[in-house]
Amino acid sequence: PAPRPDRAHPRVIAFANQKGGVGKTTTAINLATVLAAQHKVLLLDLDPQGNASTGLGIERADRGAGTYALLVDGRPLAELLRPTPVPTLQLVPADADLAGAEVELVAMEDRERRLTQALAADPALRDSFDYILLDCPPSLGLLTLNALVAAHSVLVPLQTEFFALEGVSQITQTIERVKRALNPGLALEGILLTMYDRRNNLSELVAQDVRGFFKDKVFETVIPRNIRISEAPSHGLPVSLYDARSPGAQAYAALGAEMLRREKRA
Ligand code: ADP
Ligand code: MG
Repeated sequence: PAPRPDRAHPRVIAFANQKGGVGKTTTAINLATVLAAQHKVLLLDLDPQGNASTGLGIERADRGAGTYALLVDGRPLAELLRPTPVPTLQLVPADADLAGAEVELVAMEDRERRLTQALAADPALRDSFDYILLDCPPSLGLLTLNALVAAHSVLVPLQTEFFALEGVSQITQTIERVKRALNPGLALEGILLTMYDRRNNLSELVAQDVRGFFKDKVFETVIPRNIRISEAPSHGLPVSLYDARSPGAQAYAALGAEMLRREKRA
């Protein structure tokens, strides 16, 4: 039987969508921070651009060894953990070599399972976390595939814009293919509408469209377009530490609460 994803500990969640700029990294950082209020959380930056690393205050120049070392060199997870501004949130940054990983992984044995194996290599450390969040690059290559194979569920952010549903079949078909071939327990954690603009009627129409298509898979919480959300990463902070009262911080708090409610129900 497929593993019960709702009972998994730690719960491993991938943030994926082959489109760039839809809010994967923003959601990974800010949901990680919300969950870290009650849980021990690990965030892995799997995007060579390293926005999750920068957004948590680790500059490009001092990233050191990170997810490339973990996946390709087989360096132990314990050596790669870095602190963040949030005490109960640790990060494995994107190292400078990560851009080469897609190419190098192709030739490796178990190329889709490198991340799963890396986490399994130190079960005590892995299981000391309550959540492991995986921030994927904007492609469906081997880095994202490694995340989908290691994950219990996928959260797919969609930008609330006219073409929101365009291209969404690429990620949903990839999820189905991974379920069939590599990770039968993989679940859709949910679809998240991001950059919602309340002053624009189009946002509401797009939201209705997406809910019509994905039904209750869409989170009730929508993330508004909010300047504080986009400013926070340049200060190396999650939005709740940058401006806790901003609509953006409140929306991510609501998303975290909704996710925990859903988990309890499951
Ligand atoms: P992805 O990881 O999918 O490429 P990001 O999370 O990096 O997308 O977001 C793309 C850009 O949009 C970033 O500059 C980010 O700061 C900004 N952004 C994301 N979500 C919001 C939001 N809700 N309001 C305003 N800006 C946002
Ligand atoms: Mg990103």
